[in-house]
Formats: sequence, structure tokens, C-alpha cells
Amino acid sequence: MYRVIIFVLLLFTGSLWGQDIDLLIKNGHLIDPMNEMDGPVDVAIKDGKILEIAGNISADRAETVVDATGLYVTPGLIDIHVHNFFGTEPNSAYSDGWNSVAPDGFTFRSGVTTVVDQGCAGWRNFEVFKENIIDKSKTRVLAFVNIVGSGMKGGAIEQNNADMDPKLAAMAVQQYPETIVGVKVAHYRGPEWEPVENAVKAGELANVPVMVDFGSSEPVLSLETLLLEKLRPGDILTHCYGATRGRGHVVDDNGNLNSFALRAQEKGVIFDVGHGGGSFTFRQGINAVEQGLKPNSISTDLHITSMNAGMKDQLNVMSKFLNMGMTMQEVIECSTWNPARIIKRTDLGHLSVGAEADLAVLNLLEGEFGFIDVAGYRLDGTRKLECELTVKGGQVMWDLNGISRPLWTEQ
Ligand SMILES: [Zn+2]
Repeated sequence: MYRVIIFVLLLFTGSLWGQDIDLLIKNGHLIDPMNEMDGPVDVAIKDGKILEIAGNISADRAETVVDATGLYVTPGLIDIHVHNFFGTEPNSAYSDGWNSVAPDGFTFRSGVTTVVDQGCAGWRNFEVFKENIIDKSKTRVLAFVNIVGSGMKGGAIEQNNADMDPKLAAMAVQQYPETIVGVKVAHYRGPEWEPVENAVKAGELANVPVMVDFGSSEPVLSLETLLLEKLRPGDILTHCYGATRGRGHVVDDNGNLNSFALRAQEKGVIFDVGHGGGSFTFRQGINAVEQGLKPNSISTDLHITSMNAGMKDQLNVMSKFLNMGMTMQEVIECSTWNPARIIKRTDLGHLSVGAEADLAVLNLLEGEFGFIDVAGYRLDGTRKLECELTVKGGQVMWDLNGISRPLWTEQ
């Protein structure tokens, strides 16, 4: 008799046959640029994967239902320029040092599910980074290995050409192909091109892109030469709207976009925002976007200085570009499908059926907001993104207002 009652109860609640969905996000506005989706649709998740995308999926089929009315649903955001190799080694800056931050502390609250650490570790200390941080984080942490064997420790270490070995950097990529997705060259004070050339050589050997943090050279190295002669299609200029001394800029002193920048983008060079603490100005960014040089990818250059200044987080940087004239579809594409393609991880950055269930539910706030650049100037704007919910591999990792939770009175 009891068995019959339990069976009937299970049948009634639907948990025996009816519920084939773990998490159902209903009534949201889905923007999935890879699948050319831009409209109201429901998203069903089962066993960590996207089960179904359809107009009206019954709530009865789902164990947990999120009502995303008035909200945007996007693939989990991908930030391809962060610094996550934090640690306690003395005098080590971004490489097992104090300037980097723990990924999980800053990702999910901004809708980010995948980050790409940019060259904190070189081949000599990548395994420490992997063991201490990458393997311990819930965020998917990928990495570009630094062309400098000791990574981004600052000072003379990053100026040592003898430690920039393309073969050993490429070997690190080949040893950890699931995690290392590119080669980074940064902070070189010049005046030689050798570090960039060695990074590109490593990229050729391992068949991965190179990201260049260009600047601080004395005398100034030509940005045009870098973009048109040194980089291959698919290689990345980060800090693309920076105005730092020691490098050329995309916009000249009169506010005009240099035509070589557009030619480089047409050739396939990637322009990445990499906002950071010193590498994004409205003067460069607004003039460039108005004259046709939009970014290919929007990224933060997250570290302890940038996050407490004008950069703040991925959504704040995306919000800047919304208020600079880009559309929601464009800023989402620059933070999902474009970065996935740039790092050759096309399994990420979209919500195709069967894909990993990484997604963000975003609120586009309307009001009066202010945004700060690295030169200390403000842009006033009317739109700002906020993260309501972040899901990674089907698990809720961030829920700002408890929209995935039942009311306490229902217990
Ligand atoms: Zn950086």
C-alpha cells in the first residue's frame, strides 16, 4: 500500500517520468551570436549540457525553473586577458605574486565562466600555476604561456632575451594542450623585435595565437610594423585602445584613426581591449570605434590595480562599449563567440544543443551611470550590465537575487 502511495506521489510530482530537465531558464531574451539567436526563448539544461532551446518549454519538466523575464540570457562570458597566478613568492609581481587575483573571486559575479591568464607563467613555472590555481578553481582557467621562461615577474627578468626560448615555450603548449592556448609577449622595453619574433616562432611551432602587450620601448617601436609585418592573422594586439608612451597608437594626436589599424584588422589581426589599469582611454576608444575600428574581443586585464580603478570587471568594460555606441549583440559577441574562436576553443562561447551549459543571465539597467578610463576621465552613460545568474557546467555559481531558489516559506 505504501509503495503504491509513493509511486503515485512520484508520478504526481513528476520526478519519476516527467522531469527530464535539471535547470530551465524561461522567458529570457537569448543572445547567442554563434547560433544567430536574438530573441525570447527558453533554455533547458540536463547533466551539465544544453538539452533544448525552444519557444515554450514546459516548467513541469524541470527540477529548477528560473524566470528570466526582462533579462538577457547569453553564453558564459569568456575574458581572454586576466592575471590569475597569485601567490606569495617575493618580488614576483604577476607570476606567483601579489599583483594577480584568484579567478573564482572575480569571475562568476560578472557572468564570466572562462578566463585566459595572459602570460603570468612561463614554461619554468607553469606547473606551479596549474597545480595551485588552475586545477583548484571552479572557473575554467586557460592560459597563454609567457615567452619568458620565468613568466611575468617584473624587472630585469622580463628583459632577459636569453630566457625567451620559442622551442621550450612551444613544448609547454604541446604538453598541456587542454590548458595552454597561446603564447604571450609583454612588458619588453626594447628596442629589438626579438621577443615578438620569438613569440611568433613559438606560436608557429605550437599552432597557437600570440598575444602582444606592446609598449614601453625606448625608442618607440612602430605599431604599424608590428601589426602589418610581425603578426600573423589570428595573432592579438591587446591594450588596443591604450595610449601608453613607448608605442604607437591606433588614433593619432588629432583624433584620427590610423588607416594601418583597419588594414591590420582586415588582414586578420585581432584587436583585444585588455582594459587594465593603464591601457584604455576614451580618447582612443571612442574615436577608434566611431571611425570603424571596433574591438574583436572585450577583455579586462584583471589584476589588483585594474579591478579597483576604472576597469572594475568584465560587465563594466562591456557597458562602456554599449555607451560608446556598440549594440548588445556586438558586446556579447565580443565576450563569447569571438574570444572562443580567437583561442581556438569553439566548443565554448555558444549555447548549441549538446554544448557545455555555461551561461549568464544579465540585467541591462537603465539610468544615469559614470564610467572611468585610465587617464582619469569620465564618460556618462545610460546603460549598465549587471549579472543576475551565472551557470557553469549546469551548476548555478552566482545568483544575485536568488532567482533560482524557492521562497523560504516553501520549505
Ligand atoms: Zn595584462
